[in-house]
Amino acid sequence: MSAREGPEAARPGNAPPLLVRGGTLVTLDPQATVVEADLLAEDGRIRSIGPASFDPPAGARTLDASGCWVLPGLIQGHVHLGQTLFRGLAERRRLLPWLRERIWPLEAGHDDESAYWSTMLGAAECLLSGTTTVQDIGLGPGARGLLEGLRDSGLRALAGKCLMDSGEGLPGALREETEAALAAAESLGAEFDGAAGGRLGTVLNPRFILTCSDPLWRGIRELSERRGWPVHTHALEQRDEVEEVRRLKGGRDEVDYFDEEGILERDLRIAHGVQLTAEHLTRVRRGRFSVVHCPASNLKLGSGIADLALIRGAGVPVGIGADGAPCSNDLDAWFQLRLAALLQHHRQGPASFSGLDALRLATSEGARAIGLGERTGSLEEGKAADLVVLSRSRPESWGPRTDPHDLLAYSASRADVRHVVVGGEVLVEDGRLTRLDLDEIRSRADAALEAVLGRSGVEVP
Ligand SMILES: [Zn+2]
Repeated sequence: MSAREGPEAARPGNAPPLLVRGGTLVTLDPQATVVEADLLAEDGRIRSIGPASFDPPAGARTLDASGCWVLPGLIQGHVHLGQTLFRGLAERRRLLPWLRERIWPLEAGHDDESAYWSTMLGAAECLLSGTTTVQDIGLGPGARGLLEGLRDSGLRALAGKCLMDSGEGLPGALREETEAALAAAESLGAEFDGAAGGRLGTVLNPRFILTCSDPLWRGIRELSERRGWPVHTHALEQRDEVEEVRRLKGGRDEVDYFDEEGILERDLRIAHGVQLTAEHLTRVRRGRFSVVHCPASNLKLGSGIADLALIRGAGVPVGIGADGAPCSNDLDAWFQLRLAALLQHHRQGPASFSGLDALRLATSEGARAIGLGERTGSLEEGKAADLVVLSRSRPESWGPRTDPHDLLAYSASRADVRHVVVGGEVLVEDGRLTRLDLDEIRSRADAALEAVLGRSGVEVP
């Protein structure tokens, strides 16, 4: 694999039939069925689930899952794979200084090459830990490299260019001219929507209110209406940010602003929502609004703990995400879902949130939160063959009388991940990447980080 000429590997739809044999399927279907069964994937989808001993069709691959759990692949509804190079380079800061002093200057140093290898490094970590789908907020400079990385990684992904045109502390390289930013988002969106055999989809990614002018939001609303693309943004993350929004927007907070600007009419997915109130939730549109919970990021940047009982109680689906390597430090969805559960126990009491609830944030509910509920997020016939096979051989996975959902949510980890399949293609086999070359990615990432630091002028130890 050479720089940004990703592997011409089999695409979903071209992968041979795949028989996952001998596992215990934790399906996360509406009934939360757990069943010992084989699973047959054809043309990238789950063709059938049934009692053991299917006769595999001619040319089928068999994946041994005996003694293992088989789950739907995990879904992270909010990530920044373009920030993976910046792990640990913005420590001990609250949100706004974290962005202004470190993250934006570093992002301003990206080009397509560095963004590509940042994305590949993040994608490798996602796949090795069982994440099969991400919704990525994208980049300004380097947006194309990020999209090419997602295309080549094998992940299922929703993404687009990150839109910014103004704001205190925003470096010049991120401050794009409004119409040019919208035009670039539209042309990249059109190019990558449906790419990689349909694994990629387009979302519009305005960064947040503090870096997007009124004309930019109006352009985003118009583009969303015309193209049918959802809007994915950050909102109601930290009190400091909401106070700045109120100062900037004449006393209005994010929900006031989105309501008046018609953004709430669109399919709107917000990351964080820590500051959401019951009053806000009376105004959002059912079926067109979701929240992606990022618990580690919210703790690390001092933002607080989202009230998932309030949000889910209002009928709003909640997904989960690691956010990025500079705020969660890793991209492990298992850690995020366990942390989410423990924080809700702290906030609402231990009876308020189950292992099944936690798993749903990263699977079936997480899929609905990003508009992919019909496509992925559970093991059901007709859905995409996106799955993860977990070993049960480690001592902490012992629990013969434990509810499987509790066992998985509170005890499983990425150390248990054995095989990972996206759209019927085996991307991790026996704990090793099949499509991506981790040694090459690491060495390219080393060079990419040095190049970004050179261009950005950010000094790190
Ligand atoms: Zn984010």
